Amino acid sequence: MIDYDLLANALSAPREGDSKHEHAKGVKAVTKAARQAAIDKAITLRDIDVYLIHSTPSTQLLAKYRSYGARIVTVDPGMDVVMERAKRLRPYWMQPVIKKWYAERGAKTIGAPAKPLTRTQRGLGTAHDHQRTRLLVAHVDGTLCWWCNEPMYRDDARNFDQAGLEADHSIARSQGGTVADRLLHRRCNRSRQGGNRDHLRPALEGASAPLTTRQWL
Ligand SMILES: [Zn+2]
Repeated sequence: MIDYDLLANALSAPREGDSKHEHAKGVKAVTKAARQAAIDKAITLRDIDVYLIHSTPSTQLLAKYRSYGARIVTVDPGMDVVMERAKRLRPYWMQPVIKKWYAERGAKTIGAPAKPLTRTQRGLGTAHDHQRTRLLVAHVDGTLCWWCNEPMYRDDARNFDQAGLEADHSIARSQGGTVADRLLHRRCNRSRQGGNRDHLRPALEGASAPLTTRQWL
């Protein structure tokens, strides 16, 4: 989890009493840099979920995170709870900020979250399953994964993520690719998402090569 306040507290000298979430200038500058470094690294990781806490992200920033395949989750316990917490734990000037946030949010319609698309709607129906089978039949065990550069095996247990290989579109479906034409580890395929993170794939970065099966276990 990447959280500005937690980072700032970690970078501050110990203080008496409760933190009021107010930080010295130097701490703010260092925290901002550390947070950005953490985000840049987190975007390249394939094995874990990362939660980035952001109180009032701009529309542009949200669009940027979405382009990395991020899912935006709004954590909103309601204005009463937030105001109560703010009075206890935050500087006084947070209160008008909170009221403004709720006033602006109230103006928008808050609908139920969209239902995820089915596999068929995502273009991953029966034809895709057949194509995966064809690729698996043709697969030579030990062929290196394009995403992580680790060997791929038909036997799930021999893959570093202990999962079956998945069929991937080297031209991402979001870019018009229609037929899956290669296999990737499941974890790698899912890390790749829409293809807009291809330049960040671990295979390009020798220093942080993915875990081998042994290390993984
Ligand atoms: Zn892989």
